[in-house]
Amino acid sequence: LRILGIETSCDETAASVVLRHADGRGEIVSDVVLSQLEEHSLYGGVVPEIAARAHVEALDLLVEEALDKAKTRLLDIDAVAATAGPGLIGGLIVGLMTGKALARAAGKPLYAINHLEGHALTARLTDGVEFPYLMLLVSGGHTQLVLVRGVGDYVRWGTTIDDALGEAFDKTAKLLGLPYPGGPAVERAAAHGDEKRFAFPRPLVGEARLDFSFSGLKTAVRQAAEAAAPVTEKDIADICASFQRAIVRTMDDRIGRGLKRFHDEFPGLGRQPALVVAGGVAANKALRAALLALCERHSFRFIAPPHHLCTDNAAMIAWAGLERMALGLPADDFSTAPRSRWPLDSKAEALIGFGK
Ligand code: ATP
Ligand code: MG
Ligand code: FE
Repeated sequence: LRILGIETSCDETAASVVLRHADGRGEIVSDVVLSQLEEHSLYGGVVPEIAARAHVEALDLLVEEALDKAKTRLLDIDAVAATAGPGLIGGLIVGLMTGKALARAAGKPLYAINHLEGHALTARLTDGVEFPYLMLLVSGGHTQLVLVRGVGDYVRWGTTIDDALGEAFDKTAKLLGLPYPGGPAVERAAAHGDEKRFAFPRPLVGEARLDFSFSGLKTAVRQAAEAAAPVTEKDIADICASFQRAIVRTMDDRIGRGLKRFHDEFPGLGRQPALVVAGGVAANKALRAALLALCERHSFRFIAPPHHLCTDNAAMIAWAGLERMALGLPADDFSTAPRSRWPLDSKAEALIGFGK
């Protein structure tokens, strides 16, 4: 089976051809991504109108490039998978409508994919991870700990009650006058800072619920920056290091609880369970190291797909379509509408999964 995937939910325009071999193994045949980073960096964040226009301009050429690189013609693919949500509605309309048009023209089925499901299933494409497993999604728009029980069977154990983790990095960077996107800039500055200089809050640490909260941290960063004004290079480095330290300690507590809960819920798994990460913040080395150590302590496998498959891409969308197709699950109707909000666990019925 061979699928063309399309992703346009945020600020990356992407197209990809992914193959599923008879033994279930996935193979990315082509994977092209055009980041709109430059268009948006001037504004310090993604501007929806600019994003939608950029998707319109780029998408048809990217699809052509993905097909060319895969040495495939549209008529040779078995289906089209396009992101239908959640995300910025302008971009979703562009991607889903293009997907529909291509599927219709080729006479192939269309799969309308939940972007978060793409992130959730990526580790099965890269590492063949078996259900059930835990997925931590940390991006600019999402911070979620999800129990992945099967294709279409997701339980959100925790989510942010305010800012996403990537957003916290971005806002901290903005406050300190660092470039956009903030994550890499904060990480770089933190490398030579004193992480003990500021005692920033560690929101929700110690609480039984598995949610996250980062807006208080951002406020504390602002206060620290104001108190130190005018901030020197050294102040910035110390604030970033202390901020990152607070994040890492917080995540260690939150995710540690999640791993324990997983062991409680699946005592007889018969193999080492896996924690899978996704999202741009997964690139953060301090966070990665902490999660790896945490997994070792709780005898979990730690799985971090390569960076370009952690951030937004179309290979994960194609793969999510392939997973559904391989199970013989129905394709989507051409009347399917894009949805800017679409929680991953909104489908009540489990399609297939652990213990079924
Ligand atoms: P989504 O709609 O899936 O939430 P997004 O475009 O907001 O998508 P990604 O592209 O997955 O998210 O990731 C971008 C985020 O990752 C930004 O907030 C960025 O600051 C953050 N980030 C990238 N690299 C690092 C890093 N090294 N440390 C911390 N954060 C990082
Ligand atoms: Mg992005
Ligand atoms: Fe994403």
